Amino acid sequence: MKFSELELHEDVLEAISQMGFETPTPIQEFAIPKILENKDLIACAQTGTGKTAAFILPILHKLVGKMDTTIDTLIIVPTRELAIQIEQEIQGLSYYISVGSQAIYGGGDGKNWEAQKEALKDGTDIIVATPGKLISHLQMGYVNFKHVKHLILDEADKMLDMGFSDDIEKIVSHLPKERQTLLFSATMPPKIRTLASKLLKNPEEITLSISKPAAGVSQNVYLTLDNQKVGAIKHILEQKPEYTSIIIFTSSKSNVNEIVFQLKKSGFPAKGISSNLEQSEREEVLSQFRSKKTRILVATDVMSRGIDIKEINMVINYDAPHDAEDYVHRIGRTARANTKGEAYTLINEKDMRRMQKIERLIEAEIPKLELPEALGAQPEWKVAQAFHKPKKNFKRKFKPNKPKSE
Ligand code: AMP
Repeated sequence: MKFSELELHEDVLEAISQMGFETPTPIQEFAIPKILENKDLIACAQTGTGKTAAFILPILHKLVGKMDTTIDTLIIVPTRELAIQIEQEIQGLSYYISVGSQAIYGGGDGKNWEAQKEALKDGTDIIVATPGKLISHLQMGYVNFKHVKHLILDEADKMLDMGFSDDIEKIVSHLPKERQTLLFSATMPPKIRTLASKLLKNPEEITLSISKPAAGVSQNVYLTLDNQKVGAIKHILEQKPEYTSIIIFTSSKSNVNEIVFQLKKSGFPAKGISSNLEQSEREEVLSQFRSKKTRILVATDVMSRGIDIKEINMVINYDAPHDAEDYVHRIGRTARANTKGEAYTLINEKDMRRMQKIERLIEAEIPKLELPEALGAQPEWKVAQAFHKPKKNFKRKFKPNKPKSE
């Protein structure tokens, strides 16, 4: 299918070709016509599928020719980074249309607050907001949502995980009942269904194969003791001097600085990013990584969703994520838009069970590589062995002693 078959305004099509998009992705093919027909929509899709453009393009089409500055579309997202990123994508895709947009998120300075307040009071076509900050503005009484026609919830599962459920309902209570609502979520647990049933009317649905890593990612595992992990990372990095963009994920905030420190000591300068940093520091670190001034970024799972940085060559998981879905999100940072990428995961004995859950989720066994001998003996893949242990061993071990009277 071609974008021109989607009946989008020529100025939108022009921006699409300017962005270098050649053909619509599956979610765009499905969602764009439905959104143009004003249908509500539930889309189960993760980042990397082109879901952002899937909702921005038809909204921009509808905004062509709008003369006033009333707020037409409200997009609610879990993190500030995602708010900033979506707002930037809006700016790119609306290059040939006169459309105003404003990101609303916390952590900025007073100037930021004033710009946000002005947009919410006087209006701008599209608002992209994190729930907490939007609530702060709503409480001040000046927000004018009377003309909102479209509500979009992006990464809805993440928002519920972060405890934003009440905030979302509160925000929605300020919106007109007659509106189009689109809900995007990487996973569809029952609580998302409950939320959808409250907010959407007769929605159309699309599920894109979730929990499947992009086909271009080659995945491998090293079984390591904790004290072998930095050595293993060094070993991986030494083989890839040509890679310019590498993310190392850890599920623990407190690990970030230590990993950065150890890597620096081993001659691999790296920067860390986690919610411990101030907003301006996070943006600075991300922008240096985007522009390839920083080669190695050490990040927590908060960063594994939503953030779209092109041309990441390799993802290294310092540990297994708590949630198997997050593995897919983490390694989805590489091999975006049909490129090739690599993912390595370091697994200690404690994480083996989690790794096995990941393998079940993605329905594939990930190759376990041998550590270089210099790093010492590595742990064995215990879970798998226990899992396949023949039953008769189990019986022998637990056979009760015969009663003495016999
Ligand atoms: P998303 O799933 O929205 O995070 O998008 C992932 C990446 O794919 C972003 O860098 C988009 O700019 C890009 N993208 C979106 N739609 C297309 C398309 N039709 N063709 C090529 N790249 C696209």
